[in-house]
Order: sequence, then C-alpha cells, then structure tokens
Amino acid sequence: MFRKQINTRLMVAIFVASSFISLSVGASSQKASPVAPKREQVEAIVKEAYDKFRSDTSGKNADYIPYLAQVDSKLFGVALVTTDKQEIALGDISYSFSIQSISKVYTLALAMEELGPDKVFERIGSEPTGRAFNSVQGVVEMPTHTANPLVNAGAIATTSLISGKDANEKWNKILDFYSRAAGEKLTLIDEVYKSEAATNTGNKALSMLLAKYDRIYADPFESVDIYTKQCSVGVNVSQLARMGATLANNGVNPITGEQVIKRENIPYILSAMMMAGLYDGSGGWAWHVGLPSKSGVGGGIVSVVPGKGAIAVFAPRLDDAGNSVKAQKVITYVAQKLDLNLYSPRSVGLN
Ligand code: GLN
Repeated sequence: MFRKQINTRLMVAIFVASSFISLSVGASSQKASPVAPKREQVEAIVKEAYDKFRSDTSGKNADYIPYLAQVDSKLFGVALVTTDKQEIALGDISYSFSIQSISKVYTLALAMEELGPDKVFERIGSEPTGRAFNSVQGVVEMPTHTANPLVNAGAIATTSLISGKDANEKWNKILDFYSRAAGEKLTLIDEVYKSEAATNTGNKALSMLLAKYDRIYADPFESVDIYTKQCSVGVNVSQLARMGATLANNGVNPITGEQVIKRENIPYILSAMMMAGLYDGSGGWAWHVGLPSKSGVGGGIVSVVPGKGAIAVFAPRLDDAGNSVKAQKVITYVAQKLDLNLYSPRSVGLN
C-alpha cells in the first residue's frame, strides 16, 4: 500500500518533471539555440579581425551607381548577432548604407511566404551562372533564363512575383517584411534610389529580355522600379546582422521573437545563398568559407551560420565580382577561427 503510494507520487513527480522539461525545451527552441557560440568565444576574435583588416585599402567602391562612388571608402563596421540574442558590434555601426543585392534574399523569402518553395523554384530556378550579377548572356544562355533569385535577372523576376493591387502596395509589403527581419523600421535612402533609377538601363534591358522568354510575372518596368527601391533600402551593420540572424534562427528574429519567415523555407533560402550569394565569387567562397552569404555593391556582406547566428560587415571597397574585399577578409577570418564552415565536421564539434 505504502509502496504503491510512493510509486504513484513518483510517477506524478516524473510526469510533472517531464512535462516541465518538454515545456522548457519547447520554449528554449523558440528563444535560444543550444549551439550558439559563447560571447567570450566570439568577442575577442571579432575584435582581432576588425583590427587586422582595418587599414586594408584593396578594392574600390562601385561606381556604376553614381551615389556609391561617393561613399567614404574608409567606412568599416562589423556586427555579429547570435540566435541567443548576443550582439557584438564594432566600428561604423550606425552608418546607414544601401542594402543593394542583399535585399534579394528577403524578397525571395517573401515570395516563398506567398507562393511556397516549389512555385518559386519553378518560376525562378536556382542554378549558379558563373557570370557577373548583371549578365545579359546569363539570361540568354541559362535554360531557365532567370537562373537564380540572387542575380539581377532572377531577382527582378522574383520581385515581380510579389502580389499587391499596385506598385505601392507591393513595395510597402517588401519594406515591411525587411523591417520585421531586421526588427526595426527600415527606410528608403532616397538619394540612392534616385541615383540608381536614373542609371539602371541595364536592369530595364534584362527585364525586357525576361519578358521575351515569358519569365517575368508582372509589368517589367514596374518590377525594375520596385527592385531598385528594395536595393536602396538603408541598413546599418547591426540591422543587417539581425536580418541574417533571423535566417539562422529558423525564421524567428532572435531579438523581437517574431516568426518572420516560415521555418520550412529557410534551407531553400540558404542553399540559394550558398550557390550564388557572391555571384561569380560563390564557388571560391564556398570552398574557403563554407557559409551561405550574400553581398551587395553597397559594401555589405552577411553570412549566416544556421542555428548559431550571423555576421555582417560593411566596407565599401569591392573586388571585380562586386563583393566587399574587407568584408570577405573579416568573415573568412572569423569563420576559420570559430570553425564555422558548414562543410567541416568540426563545425558541429567533431574534432
Ligand atoms: N542595385 C544593384 C544593381 O541592380 C544591385 C547589384 C548588387 O548589389 N550586386 O545593379
């Protein structure tokens, strides 16, 4: 009798404990990742990288968009945000630069929210081009013409997938989505938009070529205009790191806790970034660094470490492929020191 009582109590206790465990596991998978690196692990390495590359002057500002040619090339900021809400930021952290092509990742994410991954894959594709980001030959020669969502042609076509009763509604939806990924209200840098809108004949040509192949899904010039606005959104390096951390955290912005992107879409987005995030520099980047990343000609690069966090670097000088030289150096350094390369078994602790 007594023993039975004890057993019953024990069972109740075990039940209570196990429901507590499952509750807390559930809650922690929402809030924090068990694999996020510790602050002391990352702080010193990020600082080391910042100091090591601070005075590097290789590469040059993008100049085909007049505004970008005039940005101070010495600006340099680094930010890292983990899935358990740690934030480390150094340098020019409040300077707002144009997000440029990094926007393509989040318009892709929004298109997938609306249409699901299969339709987006069918309408855009995900093959690397091995060509410059604004290549006309790519559109002509790639079997899908759109190639992937991260080169200009595929990105303009992806923007054309976003629904809305008019251009304004589509644009506001895109801006709101980016803002939720960043966890702060983002705004257009009007001078960048004007500068780019006055000179984007190449992108207009790409959109007409896509129309010829029936691979653009709204009015071509309207789509280029919305695309030009999305590229002109201003972000600082901390906001960009949070946008990356939202991808790392299964679509939940780790700072606001909002589920911005459907968790099932994350692997598709990250795979596209690995294939084509640094354009014709993507293969070398996968080889040396092994992290899904995205660059923009404004000088930003964001790299995502699934489950752990994201690092964003801003430095305007670019290499020939259009990727920030200093940002690549900083991220390569940090990724190697912290064993972040996804293709390395060491990244999951197998030494
Ligand atoms: N807005 C730029 C363009 O269309 C984006 C290019 C980039 O960042 N690589 O050319």
